[in-house]
Amino acid sequence: MSVINFTPGPSQLYFTVEGHVRQAFREGIPSISHRSKTFEHIYTEVKEGLTTLLQLPTDYQVLFAASATEIWERSLQNLAAENSFHFVNGAFSRRYYEIAAQLKKNPAKAECAEGESFAQWQIHEDADFVALTHNETSTGVALPLEHVHAISATTKAIVAVDAVSSLPYPVFDFDRIDTLFFSVQKAFGLPAGLGVWMVNSRCIAKAEQLTQVADVGTYHSIPSLTASAKKNQTPETPNVLGIYLLAKVIDDFNRRGIETIRRETDYKAALLYQVLDQHPQLNAFVTDKTARSKTVIVANTGAHTRKLAQWLQAKGMQAGDGYGAHKENQLRFANFPTHSKEQYEMLADLIAAFEG
Ligand SMILES: *Cc1c(COP(=O)(O)O)cnc(C)c1O
Repeated sequence: MSVINFTPGPSQLYFTVEGHVRQAFREGIPSISHRSKTFEHIYTEVKEGLTTLLQLPTDYQVLFAASATEIWERSLQNLAAENSFHFVNGAFSRRYYEIAAQLKKNPAKAECAEGESFAQWQIHEDADFVALTHNETSTGVALPLEHVHAISATTKAIVAVDAVSSLPYPVFDFDRIDTLFFSVQKAFGLPAGLGVWMVNSRCIAKAEQLTQVADVGTYHSIPSLTASAKKNQTPETPNVLGIYLLAKVIDDFNRRGIETIRRETDYKAALLYQVLDQHPQLNAFVTDKTARSKTVIVANTGAHTRKLAQWLQAKGMQAGDGYGAHKENQLRFANFPTHSKEQYEMLADLIAAFEG
């Protein structure tokens, strides 16, 4: 029996990926030159496809890195001149903060308890780079978009959004953020090994300034990446197959329609939260409904964790483990475009029928 994977990442592949991989081999994509017209065309497809999917403004560049972890580091090197500021509410946002400390960017932070979002905050006056994790994959908290969009009114700093486990779901106001990024193995349902970094013209200008006075890295600095991107190329030999597959899946998403994807995401999330809210033994970790992630749903499963995971596994559904210290008492469920309404209805029914 094939098992549906609800782990947030690497997640279940998008259902078209296998076909695209076969087609890639038929076309000889895995060994094309990254200086060829074919590659330049693939790069253009990603750029145009993402622009349509996310309604990116025209001053954005789409850049490629190895992973989101790399983009944490590159964004700090290229966009934080002296003082970064971080919203920390779980393991992933904390890691961004820690990398800033390692890179000596004098990070400050607003912190709130795991499973919660920020009731209030004050960004340090001297911060010139603000980082937030839109969807904290470890806890299932998505920062309300009002929060994300309110930041730029209180600071001149660059606003960077880690949207690794929520894109393409959220509708960001691109007048209020400067850069955002994701890894392909989460909601895009692709094999791991590629990070996608979108930067606006403010980021490009700031990185160019910083290059004069600071260490912004070498081949994967924003100036180096954008110089290549203008030719639809990359500085190094990149993950060509990964970029090809990304172009294809973005095209699939656009054909399906982002509105449909968002509507189905809402529907599936509502189903699962409703079951958790009504269940006698289980509940949703995030109690504040305005902070509940639509794309990563975390259940408090307590002493039932193992048994519930096995109950689902026996029906062909693999739940994601709780993150870190919560491995023994929580389960996580990715709600990505690859997870169909029917699969989610089945998942919700099974959990509702679980008696502990
Ligand atoms: C998975 C994840 C990352 C790291 O992604 P990698 O591809 O492993 O580098 C960063 N931020 C968030 C929110 C994530 O969920």
